[in-house]
Amino acid sequence: MIDLRSDTVTLPTPTMREAMATALVGDDVYGEDPTINKLQELVAKRVGKEAALFVSSGTQSNLIALLIHCGRGDEYIAGQTAHTYMYEAGGGAVLGSIQPQPILFEKDGTLDLGKVENHVKADDPHFARTRLLCLENTQAGKVLPMSYMVEAGKFAKLHGLSSHLDGARVFNAAVKLKVDVTEITQHVDSVSVCLSKGLSAPVGSVLCGSNQFIKSAHRWRKMLGGGMRQAGILAAAGIIAINDMVERLAEDHANVQTNMVFFSLVPPLQRGGVGSTSTKEMISKFSTFMAEHDIIMDDGYPKKFRAVTHYGIEAVDIEHVVQSVAEFSRQFFTN
Ligand SMILES: *Cc1c(COP(=O)(O)O)cnc(C)c1O
Repeated sequence: MIDLRSDTVTLPTPTMREAMATALVGDDVYGEDPTINKLQELVAKRVGKEAALFVSSGTQSNLIALLIHCGRGDEYIAGQTAHTYMYEAGGGAVLGSIQPQPILFEKDGTLDLGKVENHVKADDPHFARTRLLCLENTQAGKVLPMSYMVEAGKFAKLHGLSSHLDGARVFNAAVKLKVDVTEITQHVDSVSVCLSKGLSAPVGSVLCGSNQFIKSAHRWRKMLGGGMRQAGILAAAGIIAINDMVERLAEDHANVQTNMVFFSLVPPLQRGGVGSTSTKEMISKFSTFMAEHDIIMDDGYPKKFRAVTHYGIEAVDIEHVVQSVAEFSRQFFTN
């Protein structure tokens, strides 16, 4: 099966399996797991922050960041389709009483700072207190321009906001721009990095920030049930993800801006042709056809299809996908 649904389907490499089997471990809630400590130091240094915390998922990592940067009745600004707003089950609102202020992303994945400014609330008892600007890089596979990161960092400071980067795929951005990842992360107060996407580790994210920030993060992680014990077995794979798997991301970008392609299907009738197939039917036929050709993608209904390249997907696989899509169009539009 060529599985293009997401880069989360990547399997750990043989080197990771070996490192996991032989990892030195201890009780991490006591701070005594040497492998986790090593991973945390490694990632903090790599992204240019004072400290880091290994957490169970990117969702937990972003939630902890929200809970630290914002208190009850505070507000964070994020993209309308940002992971932190749309795909984390409203955790900030449910568990932190934090109000989101979503704003539509621009085409390039940025939040227009003029629009953001219009949503920073004045100090007035009618309003929630705007505390945090939350960015995402890469955003739906798009790399935010370096100049934007600089401007956004300045903007946040100017308006007295904290800044958090959902950097689930920030290494994809750094590899694409051919810059050290600190060039991107130096402009935000905190950053969350996923080990379990294209970097291929089986589990985990790392939240990075100042010493004081990470001290707080420890408490929130415990409260959220994320204090894991001999999790150095997982961190061992994370160390390999950071040390050995970053450069490899370039392979996933060879055919797309970073590692994602989004597309939708438009049936003949909607093009002014003489078909009677609905979009839903066409999508279903497409998915079935692809499955028959051993290809699976993120569902196209009711939104767009998403195809993601990652570790385990080779150039010959992409060639097969491209040919299968072409074959589908030929059959579909001639029948
Ligand atoms: C995957 C992802 C996360 C974290 O997801 P988990 O599945 O909870 O690890 C956060 N932000 C973005 C943009 C993501 O793609």
